[in-house]
Amino acid sequence: MARMGQNPVPPFEVRASPIQGQGVFATRRIRRGARLLEYTGERISHAEANQRYDDDAVDHPHTFLFTVSAQVVIDAAVDGNAARFINHSCAPNCQAVDDEGRIFIEAARAIRPGEELAYDYQLERAGRWRKDFAQRYACRCGAPNCRGVLLLKPKRPRRPARALAA
Ligand SMILES: [Zn+2]
Repeated sequence: MARMGQNPVPPFEVRASPIQGQGVFATRRIRRGARLLEYTGERISHAEANQRYDDDAVDHPHTFLFTVSAQVVIDAAVDGNAARFINHSCAPNCQAVDDEGRIFIEAARAIRPGEELAYDYQLERAGRWRKDFAQRYACRCGAPNCRGVLLLKPKRPRRPARALAA
């Protein structure tokens, strides 16, 4: 299993992001494949997550939920760590890896100091695609291949959801 190196200081910091709100930025060179941190939070059911958060009730939906499986969602608003501040990018330098039900953020390529860390949220919403989703889940990652929206458009057959808009 990939481990962090001997240096106990994490190679990243949380600060204001040009993408949106707060972001997480590399403070040192990070090698490809490095496991950076676990996506922590309270593990709850989808029913509980839906009860806590109503995406349609807010202008800018929260993205502090990570769907682990059909049963489990991690709510990073409760006992979450810096992982909850990692923004989405359509051309990410990190990826979220499921290791026996625990989610870890790993470097998908070598990352330079100062680069903002990001992974593809692959957000999904149940039901039909609605026109207002494009605005509500607008992506401002700035990547040349930006798909313009945080959500994956529904496909058939559907893939299992990895992350879910709160
Ligand atoms: Zn984008």
